[in-house]
Amino acid sequence: MKTLAQHPLLRLLPAACALTFAAAPAIAYDFPGCMARMRGDAVKRGISSATFDKYTAAFAPDLSVLDFLDAQPEFTTPIWDYLAGLVDDERVADGRAMLDEWRDVLQKVEARYGVDAATVVAVWGVESNFGRSPGKRPLLTSLGTLACAGRRQDYFRGEFLSTLKIIDEGSIPAERLNGSWAGAFGQTQFMPSTFLRLAVDFDGDGRRDLVDSAPDALASTANFLNKGGWRSGETWGFEVVLPAGFDASVAGRKNKQPMATWVARGVKRADGRALEADGTARALLLPAGREGPAFLVGKNFDVIYGYNAAESYALAIAHLSDRLRGGGEFRTPWPTDDPGLSRAARRELQKRLIARGHDIGDPDGMIGEKTRRAIAEEQKKLGFPPNGRASRKILAALGG
Ligand code: CA
Repeated sequence: MKTLAQHPLLRLLPAACALTFAAAPAIAYDFPGCMARMRGDAVKRGISSATFDKYTAAFAPDLSVLDFLDAQPEFTTPIWDYLAGLVDDERVADGRAMLDEWRDVLQKVEARYGVDAATVVAVWGVESNFGRSPGKRPLLTSLGTLACAGRRQDYFRGEFLSTLKIIDEGSIPAERLNGSWAGAFGQTQFMPSTFLRLAVDFDGDGRRDLVDSAPDALASTANFLNKGGWRSGETWGFEVVLPAGFDASVAGRKNKQPMATWVARGVKRADGRALEADGTARALLLPAGREGPAFLVGKNFDVIYGYNAAESYALAIAHLSDRLRGGGEFRTPWPTDDPGLSRAARRELQKRLIARGHDIGDPDGMIGEKTRRAIAEEQKKLGFPPNGRASRKILAALGG
């Protein structure tokens, strides 16, 4: 299970906040003393002295992770931007190729854990772009720093020691353990403690390897969902249409009602199929309020939510899984006249910004702080609200 700080939305954290921290008075940290104080806990966890000493004796912190810990996003990301980047045609095509490539493994995974291939591959695609973007920060450095500095040291001490345990048990070598600033790593983006609880060896080489083994990663994801209470053969939910005058105050993921209640309230499936009172309880989700797409979500939506506690995240996985099964886009549009962009369109926008002299690095489709600032500058020139959004209007306004 990941921390909220690792939610994909918050991976866009601004580098600008580093300026605030740099201006603050320097704090003296005692990393050698802090490392030494963890020895007892390491012994209790069965970590060998050799491993503990090797990675703590000359520990070199990376204080830049502290900036991420307390940073607040400067720009907000509407859910339609978030989904437009995570569930685009490119990721659907890549996901279908992966379903094909790993068909045999995925069948065995489903047989063992009861989670279907499309769901497992959707998690893989959103978490690490099918293993291509697992994160680059050395885990021991980030977690060791956060274990001894900052406001969540207790939590990160546990994750640091879990990382040492992964190395000590011979699962993954230290130099392959890279991830997000907060320690989510590998193709599944598990935290180290989650790895120890739920990672499995599925390719049979005797090691649980979520970095370099796709079968281990796919099976571990399925195991995570299985242990979270996944109901085999049940849908996460589906898009619905609400009748005029519908009282939206009943919406909320935790307010599950029998399907008969939703039928009685006049809720219809968006795909035109009959809404059946099938004995399951579901909740009404309105991610953008009454005017946007509406969904009835069940237990499996909650299980996906358990992977990364954000409804927007769970909806991205759920929607991508439907797209991988051949489903289309949502029938009700998001309530905006300026929709979000796919990664391909984001790269095109970045090219147009670069052509206008903005120094934003390579056009990689990742909307980071530099791109947002460049967009905001162009928006100001055009008299648009300078919200830094990579959206259809600014793309069109910057021409072809
Ligand atoms: Ca393995």
